[in-house]
Amino acid sequence: MPDTLVKNKKNIIKRRISKEIKLGNVCVGGDAPITVQSMCNTDTRDVEKTVEQIKRLQKAGCEIIRVAIPDNEAAAAIKKIKDQVEIPVVADIHFDYRLALKAVESGADGLRINPGNIGGMKKVRQVADAAMSVNIPIRIGVNGGSLDKKVIEKYNGVCPEAAVESAVNETLILKNAGFDAIKLSIKFSDVNRTVLSYRMLSNKVPYPLHLGVTEAGSLISGTVKSAIGIGMLLNDGIGDTLRVSLTRDPVEEVQVGYEILKALGIRQLGINWVSCPTCGRCEIDLFSFVEAAEKRLAYIREPITVAVMGCIVNGPDEAKEADIGIAGGRGSGILFKKGKLLKKIPEKELLNALIYEVESLINKE
Ligand code: SF4
Repeated sequence: MPDTLVKNKKNIIKRRISKEIKLGNVCVGGDAPITVQSMCNTDTRDVEKTVEQIKRLQKAGCEIIRVAIPDNEAAAAIKKIKDQVEIPVVADIHFDYRLALKAVESGADGLRINPGNIGGMKKVRQVADAAMSVNIPIRIGVNGGSLDKKVIEKYNGVCPEAAVESAVNETLILKNAGFDAIKLSIKFSDVNRTVLSYRMLSNKVPYPLHLGVTEAGSLISGTVKSAIGIGMLLNDGIGDTLRVSLTRDPVEEVQVGYEILKALGIRQLGINWVSCPTCGRCEIDLFSFVEAAEKRLAYIREPITVAVMGCIVNGPDEAKEADIGIAGGRGSGILFKKGKLLKKIPEKELLNALIYEVESLINKE
């Protein structure tokens, strides 16, 4: 996979400095690229299905994958899964420290577990020692929906301050167990509380932050909430890795994650599509054209810009700005490459011509 870090001089976001941790061969925090991750929605015990899903996710650019560990069989399955996939596998565990120990034994590249939930310091130490013995990090994941009762009482309800205090308390438990390879998330299902919580937390801890708006909803609402929430934070320089949460195929979570990074000029994996919404001037079937072009070029990982515009009134300028651009006309379109007009093409040949030009540009670079 090519280096997808955008060397964009326009990108003036000053990133918060955090400690760097490592999951397998993927760095998170420090000045490592902001990674895109997801979580499998398969039964982890079903190794074949889980591996199949992770392979699809890898192809979409997923860089870290998390799997649910509800029992011992799922923890043991990590070994077989890891043998067949390339990206780091994080074990997601709630409450049972024995599952964390088993996941470490199975080769998990990271744990997601909240030390405050696992039943006392002795158990925390066992988990921390096991993780330290194989050099893997632990993510503490604080969710607005499951805060500690005492903290909720102290703050008179669920609020960002309560979530931040919970997160800081959780890190102290791990620090007291001598463990420092920590990553944190602090999520709510609404954007404002999520953003406020991360902003506050980012000033209180040195650790890398895993961004996300939790339980954000289906494709449209989840994409909007995630883009706003994660986008605002990234724009503040906060965040080292992200997971978009959608009630959809996790591959779409990864696609949306990259779109957020692309929109901010932080990273670009694949084509940056520019296309117009169409209006009464549009004289080609632009909706089907863009859909078909996106599908056929979805495999491309190189960071290039392709513009597909509906008419020759406003289309040519945008098409010239792109690496490859098309401006539609009556039953035809004009094709631009790197700002130069190449030729006029009949509408029925336009899609193949665009694909050809994009592919030849990629193969040349
Ligand atoms: S590019 Fe042309 S067709 Fe598309 S929205 Fe603008 S004016 Fe309308």
